[in-house]
Amino acid sequence: EEFEPVEAARPETPVKPMTATEVKVNVSIPEAAERAAATGADGVGLLRIEHMVLSLGKTPEKYIADHGAQAYQDELIEGVRRVADEFYPRPVRVRTIDAPTDEFRELEGGEGEPVEPNPMLGWRGIRRSLDKPEPFRQELAAFARLHEMGYDNLEVMFPLVNDAADVEGIKRHMREAGIDPETHRWGVMVETPASALQIEDLAEAGIDFASFGTNDLTQYTLAVDRNNGHVADRFDELHPAVLRLIGDTIETCRELGVDTSICGQAGSKPEMVDFLVEKGVSSISANIDAVRDVQHEVKRTEQRLLLDSVR
Ligand code: PEP
Ligand code: MG
Repeated sequence: EEFEPVEAARPETPVKPMTATEVKVNVSIPEAAERAAATGADGVGLLRIEHMVLSLGKTPEKYIADHGAQAYQDELIEGVRRVADEFYPRPVRVRTIDAPTDEFRELEGGEGEPVEPNPMLGWRGIRRSLDKPEPFRQELAAFARLHEMGYDNLEVMFPLVNDAADVEGIKRHMREAGIDPETHRWGVMVETPASALQIEDLAEAGIDFASFGTNDLTQYTLAVDRNNGHVADRFDELHPAVLRLIGDTIETCRELGVDTSICGQAGSKPEMVDFLVEKGVSSISANIDAVRDVQHEVKRTEQRLLLDSVR
């Protein structure tokens, strides 16, 4: 008697709606890479490296002094590679370090950190990286090495950029690290009102994408500390002033051929998704648990816009 092979039962693959707007996922720890990739997201819109760095227990400067620059690079390569591997060839946007001084002060070597009255308005993100570039150089060198290893799906993103002068500093360091800003895909977070208002200058300086960091953009636009419970009820990412900055930036970026994205928490909110898709955002990056809902919300909004356009 003929043996009829029966196809093994497969686990249900999630039905991912086809959308024109890409839906990506935020990843903060390398261990979450597998779960993030299984969402069917179109890539990683924000890979944070703060956890990889802070979990070393020492400030980056102290770690490099004790173990050498190569060891710091290797730590980053190991963490980022895990995510780049899991998603390949889907793009992964890795961001250079963005921790405030009060978080670095908790670490070994942190006693040298300045005590700032307002760390969120202080020495963090690209400001620190450009002022004290040794760890920054090693971060870029790690990304360059990963690229050499074949991970051409990596894109680099820079936090807390204000203006074209910041971008010029970034480009200089990219070139020195062997990352050609003309051929690699890279971009900046738009998370200060200054960057939104000067997006034309940033585009002219050569960015490929702008990604809205709505956690900070809301905090800085409304002057509402994102970590202060006393004003938590005033922290509104859908405030008209915030939406105006985002909407105008998307419009300008579309004219100039710069991709736009969101990687703040608000990207997981349906109202923000509707607003962004209507404005023509290129991609939305959501929390792992929200990706499915965002995919469907994007689909619904795109279908509604299509129907409206033929009416
Ligand atoms: C943001 O500000 O929205 C953002 C994504 O960056 P972080 O939360 O790491 O400051
Ligand atoms: Mg931010």
